[in-house]
Amino acid sequence: MSEQFQVKADPELWAKLDMDVERFSNIPPMLTGVFNDVFLSQENRPQGMGYFDNMVSNIFTGRIQEMYDAREEGRPVVGTFCVYVPEEIIHAAGGVCVGLCGGSQGSIGDAEKILPRNICPMVKSAFGFKVGRICPFFQVVDFVYGETTCDAKKKTWELLDEYVPTHVMEIPQMKRERDKKLWVEEVKDFKTAIEQQTGKDVTETELKQAIETMNAKRKAMQRLNDLRHHDPSPISGRDMLLIQQIAFYDIPERFTEKVNELCDELEARIKTENYVAPKGTTRLMVSGTPMALPNWKLHNIIEKSGAVIVNEESCIGTRYYKDTISTDGTNMEQMLEKLTERYMQIDCSCFTPNDDRIDQVIKEYRESGAQGIIDYCLQFCHTYNIEAVKLRQACEKEGIPFLAIESDYSPEDVGQLQTRIEAFIEQIQD
Ligand code: SF4
Ligand code: SF4
Repeated sequence: MSEQFQVKADPELWAKLDMDVERFSNIPPMLTGVFNDVFLSQENRPQGMGYFDNMVSNIFTGRIQEMYDAREEGRPVVGTFCVYVPEEIIHAAGGVCVGLCGGSQGSIGDAEKILPRNICPMVKSAFGFKVGRICPFFQVVDFVYGETTCDAKKKTWELLDEYVPTHVMEIPQMKRERDKKLWVEEVKDFKTAIEQQTGKDVTETELKQAIETMNAKRKAMQRLNDLRHHDPSPISGRDMLLIQQIAFYDIPERFTEKVNELCDELEARIKTENYVAPKGTTRLMVSGTPMALPNWKLHNIIEKSGAVIVNEESCIGTRYYKDTISTDGTNMEQMLEKLTERYMQIDCSCFTPNDDRIDQVIKEYRESGAQGIIDYCLQFCHTYNIEAVKLRQACEKEGIPFLAIESDYSPEDVGQLQTRIEAFIEQIQD
């Protein structure tokens, strides 16, 4: 599909969503060019990537139309910014959950007209998308659900509320029993807010079904990640990152089916020794802050420098799917408790202490057969940046090659990052 690939446009639909159509019309051709360079220039990609390429082709059209139709049917379309917001409840209410974290430099200028410059680019990018009316996902949602994970986010929600109805969940910063109780109460309030939007209560059967649907999605992602750990790798890190990003805006059931189909193909490729990177290619793991669409910068640099990425310890990575929800709950109260237990296992650096994350990174390093870790921190993300100190210490103790990188979405540091990454790869090869 490489020659015909095109990110499609639908100005009529965008106008209905009150977008800045003229300005946004420049985006699909730009994204087409970048996608060709980062993804379609790769050789021997699995056939199953065709579906995910198509999802990118329809990112501003077909998928938005599906969400628009859902909204017209009275189903809530809810934007979120954190994997702590329980999407099972939105799904149980017949709604659509879409991740709105921003991964583009293009909207940062809009945000910086209002927000301070020295905050995380993910927050600025998302805010800028809404302020500039240049993101169809932001325009199609009924409301957004923010959280109190980090200072940049929680204070931005106060401003975002002027542009789109913004609710906020309080996510605890510790994991003691009293914090878990607070979190259960927050999840219950979240359920009530979604029910108020739809005008009907979520039933136990609906919640059970939604938990099973999301468990199946997470299990499919676990299966895919296990397969990519094979040495040599049957799929590139860039393609894996793309799939993990699409997980935040596709229909869960359809996505799960396509991921499982891809897994079947990868199993067959492993049997026939059909790989994307030859034996001996340096295998790296990335840990740290999430990479929202279309942030492909680091993966592109690493893999174009000759290494292959074999794991992402990230919220757009294993933190999103490593745990499933126990289905032992038989009534609403128990189901919500089991659900919150699973969510409290997400080891975001916003928690303290957070030593479980350090252990988890080392565990994933071993399981993935990586030869080094690149810890990726978005500029001005204090919690991940400080936690990198502990991670470095743990890696030094274990003899694991470690490189910490702090970056944003601008292309300015690409050359410098490339030099550091090439030196890191050489160090591992030596
Ligand atoms: S890194 Fe933390 S704040 Fe960001 S999505 Fe993950 S859990 Fe949420
Ligand atoms: S990367 Fe860090 S600063 Fe940015 S939104 Fe996530 S937790 Fe906040």
